[in-house]
Amino acid sequence: MGGTAVVVGGGIGGLAAAIGLRRIGWDVRVVERAASLDDAGAGISLAANGLRALDELGVGEAVRSASRGQYDGGTRTPGGGWLARMDGSALERAVGTPIMGIPRSTLHRLLREALPAEALLIGAEAVSVERTGPGTARVDCGDAVLDADLVVAADGIGSAVRGRLFPDHPGPVYSGSTVLRGITERPIELRTDFELTWGHGAEFGHIAFRDGRAEWHAVLRLPARTRFADPLAELRRRFRDWHDPVPALLDATRPGAVLHHDVNELRAPLPSYVVGRVALLGDAAHAMTPNLGQGACQALEDAVTLAAALATEATVEAGLARYDAERRPRSQAVALAARQAGRMGHQLSHPLAVALRNTAMRLTPSPLALRMILRHHAWTSPKLP
Ligand code: FAD
Repeated sequence: MGGTAVVVGGGIGGLAAAIGLRRIGWDVRVVERAASLDDAGAGISLAANGLRALDELGVGEAVRSASRGQYDGGTRTPGGGWLARMDGSALERAVGTPIMGIPRSTLHRLLREALPAEALLIGAEAVSVERTGPGTARVDCGDAVLDADLVVAADGIGSAVRGRLFPDHPGPVYSGSTVLRGITERPIELRTDFELTWGHGAEFGHIAFRDGRAEWHAVLRLPARTRFADPLAELRRRFRDWHDPVPALLDATRPGAVLHHDVNELRAPLPSYVVGRVALLGDAAHAMTPNLGQGACQALEDAVTLAAALATEATVEAGLARYDAERRPRSQAVALAARQAGRMGHQLSHPLAVALRNTAMRLTPSPLALRMILRHHAWTSPKLP
């Protein structure tokens, strides 16, 4: 069963969906409102499930070659004590790969390069998506009107398509945390591949890249829309007493290169990821807090599952119903787990609660910690023909 599809949004989810649909023989166009197709975010970690999806899309090898395996690291206290060590080799033995770290711009480029240039309509904003018949939908981009058998709404957490399809849904809400991120401007000597440090109401973490640079993030519990005149100076002040390499990572970053976003999530789960011939995918469907590093991995799972369902089922309707049935429970369970992980992490600020959490983590045997991680990473990708 072939067909035509328009994907709204050229982020990681939208590009992956387009690659999957092309692999099953569909004619696909991606409309992206940004003037250039890029992902300005800092870095991203890809777990086994996301990597499996990328393998099925045919870009897994390219992504692995540009990534760095996160073998050595764990969770620390601001004074530098270890709450938990994580061994990437144990993860590799269990699911075939450690977590891989890659600059977002590189991942985005590799996905983009897997699509022909003519499939991408850059600088085109979808202003409306409407049903035009029992089996067709139309995307109006102002200058261009595109008719298709299927519209994939991969327009991110602020999805206007979701807003129109589910007018009563409350939409994204502020998680209570704001995140500042950056990539060091030069390679930096680090003793570990990745770390996460939990203080009272604050978190700092890093992921090392293949070229020796590293991405870092700082999460702060602050009112929504708090902004700093000089974000890097503010972070240096707040984290100056934290263990090495926290201050060094900030020192190795250009002041203008700090990104600052509030962390929002879709707290109320959607009742369906499919309405007529429109399928919601990625953050548009299930934007989650970044505490498990699973948002993009889930978008990649969505992309492969959608293509596999459409390739296998006899009709588009049946394929979409299967996509919804397979993806909603899994992605919504991961979103819930991510929120809970946030509550047990940097969001904990009462000193007694922090002490109890830290003791529990120190006492948790690592096979148990590994089993908890595997719940999300162990995922078998459907096969694309
Ligand atoms: P987006 O990346 O938001 O893409 C949506 C695209 O749609 C954008 O390009 C936008 O311009 C376009 N668009 C919107 N509206 C329109 C329109 N009307 N017309 C045309 N185009 C439109 N996930 C992981 O798996 N691992 C991690 O380590 C990780 N770390 C994270 C750290 C932080 C701090 C945050 C906030 C998130 C993190 N995530 C991580 C989650 C991940 O970034 C997202 O889940 C993922 O990028 C979502 O991709 P998407 O394609 O669904 O949406």
